[in-house]
Amino acid sequence: MTSSVWHPFTQHGLGEPVPLVERAGGALLHMADGQAVIDAISSWWVTTHGHCHPRIMAAIADQAQKLDQMIFAGWTHQPAEDVAAGLRAIMPESLTRVFFSDSGSTAVEVALKMALGYWHARGETRHRIVVMEHSYHGDTIGAMSVGARGVFNQPYEPLLFDVARIPFPAAGAEQDTLDALEAFCGAPGTAALIVEPLVLGAGGMLVYAPETLAAMHAICARHGVLFLADEVMTGWGRTGTLLACEQAGVTPDVLCLSKGLTGGAVPLAVTMASEPIFEAHWSTDRAKMFFHSSSYTANPIACAAANANLAIWREEPVRDRVAALAGKQAAWLEKLGQFCHFDNARTLGTIAALDLKTSGEGGYLDTLAPRLMAFFRERGVLLRPLGNTVYVMPPYCITDEQLGDVWNAIGEAVISF
Ligand SMILES: *Cc1c(COP(=O)(O)O)cnc(C)c1O
Repeated sequence: MTSSVWHPFTQHGLGEPVPLVERAGGALLHMADGQAVIDAISSWWVTTHGHCHPRIMAAIADQAQKLDQMIFAGWTHQPAEDVAAGLRAIMPESLTRVFFSDSGSTAVEVALKMALGYWHARGETRHRIVVMEHSYHGDTIGAMSVGARGVFNQPYEPLLFDVARIPFPAAGAEQDTLDALEAFCGAPGTAALIVEPLVLGAGGMLVYAPETLAAMHAICARHGVLFLADEVMTGWGRTGTLLACEQAGVTPDVLCLSKGLTGGAVPLAVTMASEPIFEAHWSTDRAKMFFHSSSYTANPIACAAANANLAIWREEPVRDRVAALAGKQAAWLEKLGQFCHFDNARTLGTIAALDLKTSGEGGYLDTLAPRLMAFFRERGVLLRPLGNTVYVMPPYCITDEQLGDVWNAIGEAVISF
């Protein structure tokens, strides 16, 4: 029987197999055919504590008996109040307001609208958004507009709005990035910078220095340009700290969180904003409210999962688990480097990446990545290389044996391809 499902980022014309997964637990996906696969990319960067985490599943089951879904415009419920209070307690103090949505892309759309609304309310004509080359912020029109342009968004290009682009701060070339940012921030009309702090995920796990992020923040602050941090991927411990911004001593004006917000169990996102941004929309005039909502804003069941995630962060040694995993990832990468050749070995917290030497062009359409993916799948490992970049971003519960299996498969791939 053929499936009617149209899969995301999948070319159905190639007829590649679409594996059927039945259940999951910890770092494992269990297939319908009985095979277990190690989820070495946290199911596209969402799963933090492990699949079907008992505390999160229990919170979802419990909430599902009480309140499933309700309007959030002008109404509230306890799970959402608790998420907001819980976030306030562990996120930077100056981020006083919590706006809910349901995905990383919508969290970014909300951040952009907040920034533009802020300047509009203040009566200043500032519309220019500054972005970093190779960035990814989601697949909706606004999120695509502030992301890298390429084969992914070519058909929609005429609809995407113009942004100002600064170069990626590659090691040794940081000053070019800072100079470009200074020039855009100094020019009239610049509203905000939106950036993935410390590592550009979809752009190829490109890592840059905390000092550069701090310098970028200082430039924005000096010109009153809003600093929007997209921590949708980097948040919740991935880079070794709760937020990547922490490592640069930077507090953004607006913070986007999603993926790990519920431990990766169910969809939910928040955009946290500083008080001045909230105040700019505060009025007795209804025409000046923040005009944004989606049907499932702050869904109670998703909020219950987020509260369980927050409790895990408060009560369990998550930071120690992250530090331990970071150490193991660095050790495996170094060990592999002694046996075989690859380029640009890099780690940041729990993320480790390397580039295979390849004769192809290495772009997204290069056949290397899908061939690698199939190679890993045959070895019971789920990895999804970005071009010739192979990266490992596992859930924090991955066992030493599982992590060893992942890295041994990568070692084999480095030699075979
Ligand atoms: C995944 C991602 C997004 C988009 O999140 P979705 O939930 O897939 O819409 C936005 N920004 C970054 C940095 C991401 O990694």
